[in-house]
Amino acid sequence: MRPLDIAVCGCGPAGLASALLLHRDGHRVRIFERFESPRPVGSGLIVQPTGLGVLAELGLCDAAQALGARIDRLFGRVMPSGRVVLDVRYSALGGGWHGVALQRTALFALLHRAAQDAGIGIDPGVEIAAVEPGGEQTALKDMSGRRLGSFDLVVDALGARSPLAAPRVRRKVLPYGALWANIPWPPEAAFNANALEQRYFRASRMAGLLPIGGSGPDQPRLAAFFWSLRRDRFPAWRARPISEWKRDVEQLWPEAAAATQGITDHDQLVFAQYDHFTLQTPCSDGLVHIGDAGRSTSPQLGQGANMALLDALALARALQSEGTLMERLLRYKSLRFWHVRLFQAASAMFTPFYQSDSQVLPFVRDWLAAPISRLPIGDMVLARLVAGMTVAPLGSSPFKVYREST
Ligand SMILES: Cc1cc2nc3c(=O)[nH]c(=O)nc-3n(C[C@H](O)[C@H](O)[C@H](O)COP(=O)(O)OP(=O)(O)OC[C@H]3O[C@@H](n4cnc5c(N)ncnc54)[C@H](O)[C@@H]3O)c2cc1C
Repeated sequence: MRPLDIAVCGCGPAGLASALLLHRDGHRVRIFERFESPRPVGSGLIVQPTGLGVLAELGLCDAAQALGARIDRLFGRVMPSGRVVLDVRYSALGGGWHGVALQRTALFALLHRAAQDAGIGIDPGVEIAAVEPGGEQTALKDMSGRRLGSFDLVVDALGARSPLAAPRVRRKVLPYGALWANIPWPPEAAFNANALEQRYFRASRMAGLLPIGGSGPDQPRLAAFFWSLRRDRFPAWRARPISEWKRDVEQLWPEAAAATQGITDHDQLVFAQYDHFTLQTPCSDGLVHIGDAGRSTSPQLGQGANMALLDALALARALQSEGTLMERLLRYKSLRFWHVRLFQAASAMFTPFYQSDSQVLPFVRDWLAAPISRLPIGDMVLARLVAGMTVAPLGSSPFKVYREST
């Protein structure tokens, strides 16, 4: 295999993991990132057994587990009745399965340190704007039109708003997003330290709490608190006193008062809006889109970072195969095809049951879907979906999903 000159654009999970894997395979890799000192944006996320499998390939799984919080269960009650309408346990798959919830800072730091240790060059403070295909090589340009170099392959890992993917994206901006804050882990008596917990009122209100571990070995343990909010209601939310919002939270979930007591200002919460799209073909001559740049969705199924890590591994495997560069990029597409399609479809289908103005969908969720999910087969199907294992994550390429030895 001839080593390639590769530009990896973006320092998120997709970009950093692919840089590490491609560098390990002998390619000459350079990373570009817009932030002066690369940093993650956002709160916390669950790395599923699929994502842990990729971190294990990178030798980072143990470190991730030491920093994060072990997640055994996803649990939700509809209020005010208190009826349990979501109860996914990884143990439905047998022993040893679990997720790990991490601060985005912690996942970023792990991957970033590994890239630095491997000696991969990172160019910070560069806002990527365009590519220019030309013969064998693809030129990369920044916002001012400056040419950053020519590469055999440009890996677009610029996230959901990538300017390199934008011309090909048919984006649907979802009506609901969420406010997120990292808070000190609240008193354990009220919350399960190994579960994502949610409370719902119909599908128009949702609050959640996810333990996310520490940003370093001796750092305090935190939780991510989130509150579903319709995009067009964000200005009204900002205009109201924060105390009124805290009353809304407490009305939905009385115990959550312990979680929100340290929130005294709107600026402590970040509003995330979500896009939904899937690129039909995530590659063209000398350019491949991975992670959220190639498809994006709401975080309802908690798969985004896992999909980004799996994309990175699939791309590395595809480039190991024989053929022209385009043939190998199309192999990347086929390795990920069914896994990506399934999760994009599942996310599009399930999100409105949890985030919409519908009165019918939450009724169906509470009185039909929830009882079915509690049946012996139903709980296994749901656990496989959440764990990212409904179809083979890397298609025909062998992949070991992480499972703790029991
Ligand atoms: C609030 C929230 C909660 C989530 N929860 C979960 C969860 O529980 N589990 C899960 O798996 N996923 C979750 N996700 C999704 C997950 O975070 C994303 O899917 C994942 O981060 C995608 O990784 P990525 O590397 O593709 O893109 P990103 O993480 O978006 O990284 C893109 C990088 O590119 C850089 N960049 C962007 N544009 C430019 C430019 N023009 N020039 C240079 N650099 C640029 C950015 O600064 C960033 O560093 C959540 C997302 C959100 C918003």
